[in-house]
Amino acid sequence: MALESTPNHTQTVAGWAAHDSSGKIVPFIFKRRETGVNDVSIKVMYCGICHTDLHFVNNDWGITMYPVVPGHEITGVITKVGSNVKNFKIGDRVGVGCLAASCLECEFCKNSQENYCDQIQFTYNGIFWDGSVTYGGYSDMLVADHRYVVHVPDNLPMDAAAPLLCAGVTVFTPMKDCQLVESPGKKVGVVGLGGLGHVAVKMAKAFGHHVTVISTSPSKETEAKQRLGADSFIVSTDDEQMQRGKRTLDVVLDTVSAQHSLGPILELLKVNGTLALVGAPDRPIELPSFPLIFGKRSVKGSMTGSMKETQEMMDVCGKHNITCDVELIKPDQINQAFDRLARNDVRYRFVIDIAGNSKL
Ligand code: NAP
Ligand code: ZN
Repeated sequence: MALESTPNHTQTVAGWAAHDSSGKIVPFIFKRRETGVNDVSIKVMYCGICHTDLHFVNNDWGITMYPVVPGHEITGVITKVGSNVKNFKIGDRVGVGCLAASCLECEFCKNSQENYCDQIQFTYNGIFWDGSVTYGGYSDMLVADHRYVVHVPDNLPMDAAAPLLCAGVTVFTPMKDCQLVESPGKKVGVVGLGGLGHVAVKMAKAFGHHVTVISTSPSKETEAKQRLGADSFIVSTDDEQMQRGKRTLDVVLDTVSAQHSLGPILELLKVNGTLALVGAPDRPIELPSFPLIFGKRSVKGSMTGSMKETQEMMDVCGKHNITCDVELIKPDQINQAFDRLARNDVRYRFVIDIAGNSKL
């Protein structure tokens, strides 16, 4: 871990935290570090509610450090810059995603792949360089090292852009790895039409692909096609539809948050096809061997994106005018939003209006 000295935690911040695995969110006052030489301070405007936040507040993965202040889909405005910071100035519209710190020295950090640094620390539930636990964007102010901050293109609204910081980059990087960015003509499947899934559909369409949504929710078909631009829709619980879809897709992105089998999804891939898994259920998912070996198919994982990829994704979204479909809520509605997210009842991302700028 690089040696970085961070000054004392003196700045009082109002936020919202869960204190135990009941997952209930309550107001929480805490301290953040002073704005160091490499830091920027950000007045938080909006923060998306990622399903990961729900996994963390409920301690689904058994790694939550309470109290936890969730939030890693943050947009806001710079209010202070440290003396080493050259690429941001006061008033800039910026975004912060999942990453808060990395070692800066390993091959991944040196190669702009710091999301795979084995000492990576996250925006919340991480341990920062000074040993303090990180608190996320469900709060009115953030201090972030400038190396983990990106610019938000001028044409993107701050509320609908917020979920790009996690959902957007998480689906962008596997698309890039599979040569789908700005290189049209492939058949792309998106499994799970939630926060991640709906941005994946928009991106894949903007890049010129034929997009099939694979969903457990027949009620999402009309919207998927008319609002998001999907070409085709398969209800995954309908065997006949799944049969018809066999061997039709080049790449599938699996964004499902719950345990499921990859077998039927793999069957949808052509020979040599790739299934990129980004969903992170708490229990192992089933990976039967036959659909893998009979189709020479691959399954690969992907963890958010590097900061370079995050800025690239923001710029690509600016170019194509890609934003998220959001339901804006006030901070005192976070618990209701969590309940609805757990019931798969959101179109397609809740975003908290932290600064109270919108007309709700
Ligand atoms: P979300 O908005 O809740 O969407 C998940 C979707 O999965 C739902 O909309 C639903 O789509 C489908 N689904 C839910 N329960 C299901 C079940 N039992 N069987 C089959 N499908 C089901 O969640 P999200 O915010 O997009 O996040 C999705 C997952 O990605 C979470 O596990 C999250 O932790 C993970 N994640 C990973 C990364 C990473 O870096 N790899 C980053 C962010 C999030 P349908 O109604 O269409 O079936
Ligand atoms: Zn997330």
